[in-house]
Amino acid sequence: MKQFNAATDLLQNAKHLIALTGAGISKESNVPTFRGKDGLWKQYNAMDLATPQAFHRNPQLVWEWYTWRQELIAKCEPNPAHLTLAKWEHNGLLKTLITQNVDGLHRRAGSTQILEVHGNLWTLKCTKCTYQSRLSQPTQGIPLCPECQSNLRPDVVWFGESLPSSIMDQVFKELQTADIIVVVGTSALVQPAASFPLIVKQNGGQILEVNVETTPLTTSADIHLTGKAGEVLPQLDKLL
Ligand SMILES: [Zn+2]
Repeated sequence: MKQFNAATDLLQNAKHLIALTGAGISKESNVPTFRGKDGLWKQYNAMDLATPQAFHRNPQLVWEWYTWRQELIAKCEPNPAHLTLAKWEHNGLLKTLITQNVDGLHRRAGSTQILEVHGNLWTLKCTKCTYQSRLSQPTQGIPLCPECQSNLRPDVVWFGESLPSSIMDQVFKELQTADIIVVVGTSALVQPAASFPLIVKQNGGQILEVNVETTPLTTSADIHLTGKAGEVLPQLDKLL
């Protein structure tokens, strides 16, 4: 409880609060990890499907995999952690949400100020021109660009690709402005996201970590709250 009160103080005094979320928050909504151990697709691993080369070789196969993922995710619901973060944005507490997740659950929960560093499964982009569009339901077959008839692809960051620079510019601006970063459900192992909280800290800000277990970030965190995000965040919200 002492930790909770300290966390509440931190949040109440925040001038520019941002959040970073990772796979843990999606897991609580039963979003599969898609690392290739899932039934139908177990003969493939993500490295064989989530690369520009794989898409060039066999766009049909890659799209089948993404359609299957979209169908599974469409059945998942945002959990209380997603909803609390959306509430904090709407009441002005949370300025920006940075996420490594591609499932779109934050948007479905009502968040709008989202920086998706790995892209989003529900956004398409053209492989040739600048066309982009947002999906409301799973794709069927290989979607084609209405502007140039080239194949559209999921607007996600594949292995071997760099993170979108326009998003990263905004992320770094936020990291430099933030005085508090809430880090939720991320193992803090995958770069560059693992270093995001440390950038806030280097700029004099503080880190509030929420995770079911300790992580490599925990020793740098000013406050660590152990537990499921879907329980800890609503609990914090009640104390605000
Ligand atoms: Zn096009």
